[in-house]
Amino acid sequence: MTIVLPPTATGLTKAAALLREGGLVAFPTETVYGLGGDARSDAAVAAIFAAKGRPRFNPLIVHVSDLDAAERLARFDARARAVAQAFWPGPLTLVLPLRAEAGLSPLVTAGLGSVAIRVPAHAVAQGLLQAFAGPLAAPSANPSGRVSPTQAAHVLDGLAGRIAGVVDGGACMVGVESTILGLLPDSPPRLLRPGGLPLEVLEAVLGTGVATGLDEKAITAPGQLASHYAPVAAVRLGATTAAAHEVLVGFGPVTGTLTLSATGDLAEAAANLFDMLRRADVLAGAGGRIAFAPVPETGLGRAINDRLRRAAAPRA
Ligand code: AMP
Ligand code: MG
Repeated sequence: MTIVLPPTATGLTKAAALLREGGLVAFPTETVYGLGGDARSDAAVAAIFAAKGRPRFNPLIVHVSDLDAAERLARFDARARAVAQAFWPGPLTLVLPLRAEAGLSPLVTAGLGSVAIRVPAHAVAQGLLQAFAGPLAAPSANPSGRVSPTQAAHVLDGLAGRIAGVVDGGACMVGVESTILGLLPDSPPRLLRPGGLPLEVLEAVLGTGVATGLDEKAITAPGQLASHYAPVAAVRLGATTAAAHEVLVGFGPVTGTLTLSATGDLAEAAANLFDMLRRADVLAGAGGRIAFAPVPETGLGRAINDRLRRAAAPRA
């Protein structure tokens, strides 16, 4: 029932037609596969929450083709324009004041006065946005709380039969979700989620530090829930050897049954992360555990460790 579409002009035309009918179509971005729906349609956005089993109070990221389209949805100040010009298209999401006339379904923003927007770089995502010619709400294309998809097969594992289609564009290059930066009036820049754009790179362009602690006033969001990105098997971090019934996932000098990057390359590790989490889960089997080697807390390591900590967190 879920059709797999090729990343060709014909495939994207079909995908855009499904989206215009209010259907949901998963598509590749450079970060992970997104589950797209018309961001202006209450019914389509409600269907995204239903397909994922995602709580409605958790707002979605809106994907648009360029900065002009983004400026029609949100108010950009000088800081926002500077980072957008530096990093879009790319793995950066900005949370900005919502324009009243944006025309987005209020479900997208969970009724907040702010909206999360991204311009993806992936050619297939760009092609789909052009063909659809409108804003797409697109959270990761997986059941809420589970591991994010970086291949079309991962999308089908979790959502086959629950969505209209998936455009198969191969494996995602970055492999972890976008960095989310809050840029709200009268507030310092705040990192809402570490991701595919390293914090250090962002700070260099902003020319100021970015607040990283949890904001008391911040909304609750799935990316911020302790247990998320959860495989079936229990996860242990900081491992250098495998204990009994453990599948070790290595990094750098620690060689495992699977290894995120033998050379300690953080970009390679990020690109491998979610697929290896899935494969380790299968290898661990019933009652088994997954152990991860330490990954440094710098650059993309911040996003990798964030996802690993959530995968290892006690389950609700
Ligand atoms: P994802 O789960 O990848 O779709 O990412 C969505 C995340 O974006 C949420 O978990 C929030 O952390 C963040 N987000 C989306 N919209 C807003 C908003 N209006 N204000 C603050 N954060 C938001
Ligand atoms: Mg997600």
